[in-house]
Amino acid sequence: MTERLYYDDAYLWTFDAAVTAVKNGTRPGEWKVTLDRSAFYPTSGGQPFDTGTLAFGKVKASVTEVEADSDGEVWHTVDKEIPAGTAVHGEIDGERRTDHMEQHGGEHMLAGAIWEKLGGTTIGLHLGQTDSSIDVSMPEERTHLTEEEIILLEDTVNARIRLDAPIRCWFPEKEELKKLPLRKAPTVSEHVRIVAMGDFEMVACGGTHPSSTGRIGSIKIISAVPAKGKVRVSFVCGGRAAKLFQTYMHYADKAGAALSSPVDKLSRAASELKSRLADAEKRANRLESRELLNRMEESGNTEDLKGITLCTLQIPETDGRAVNAAVSEYISGKGRALLLCAGERLTFARSADVNIDMNALIKRVGRGGGRPDMASGAGVPECIGVARKILMTEGVS
Ligand SMILES: [Zn+2]
Repeated sequence: MTERLYYDDAYLWTFDAAVTAVKNGTRPGEWKVTLDRSAFYPTSGGQPFDTGTLAFGKVKASVTEVEADSDGEVWHTVDKEIPAGTAVHGEIDGERRTDHMEQHGGEHMLAGAIWEKLGGTTIGLHLGQTDSSIDVSMPEERTHLTEEEIILLEDTVNARIRLDAPIRCWFPEKEELKKLPLRKAPTVSEHVRIVAMGDFEMVACGGTHPSSTGRIGSIKIISAVPAKGKVRVSFVCGGRAAKLFQTYMHYADKAGAALSSPVDKLSRAASELKSRLADAEKRANRLESRELLNRMEESGNTEDLKGITLCTLQIPETDGRAVNAAVSEYISGKGRALLLCAGERLTFARSADVNIDMNALIKRVGRGGGRPDMASGAGVPECIGVARKILMTEGVS
């Protein structure tokens, strides 16, 4: 069984060890080696594996994945073959590990606060590339948290982080274990390892943790959404929280400058702008529609078709709402028929007292359909000329 050096020192970035076994990896050019002792953390408990290097002689092998088997051996996937018995010098990517410890440590603090303040039970941790999440079983099967509850959790955890309380990990004897005030029962019965974060949180955990709560930095909850009858709480800690703040400030400042508004009044400024825009669009539509109706009624665009006023009109692409309003208005008059091509959109329509099947007509000259009194579809400007010729030749029944 590999001796886990990170149990005693979670900040041990370098170590010396010996290869105890080697086998082929899952991909060509990959091998898996076990060591007699290792500071590399294997994926478990929701915390991803460490990366780094194993050096021997002048050769340096990259460690690209680390996993533990059921016998407790830690297998390091490497890109160079290292024979059993070789003495190696291991080096861990400390930045990656520190990031993982900040998220993992923050998760403990958050789970403790959720239990203490809201009576929620946390199940599992997913430590992702950008943020991490936990699923929480809430009393009365609630599947959401209020904004006030989220702020309460953040404030509680951040205050405890600032206290910089020591984080202690140890393997208690069975008698001692029985007496410990654990937040939840351990999932293993042998070699139970306990983590105590100040006096805020105490659970069984085999992961790596910062040495004190201050090294978690800070926490920011990103969202709390329903997930399979529970609340999924997503959060960031430490360097990730600082980065998120930088990013949000960057975009908030840009949006503030664009809307000439201080950041705390941005949402009101955006709502006002949206409402002004909607009003302006309505006015523009009304004007456009009025102008289009005028063109439909111009004598140059209309002609007599056996007592009916036929308008044949081609216009550039126009807002559909303005077109619809003008068409409705036009055919609300008596004895009118309209063949309109706006861009590549055809609209054939007629007054209620005119007996032309516009649905049948549009199908003869283009693509589309609708009702006998109004049909629309796609076509080229020539379509309205062809439709006009049909009406002039075949007449109105
Ligand atoms: Zn832990």
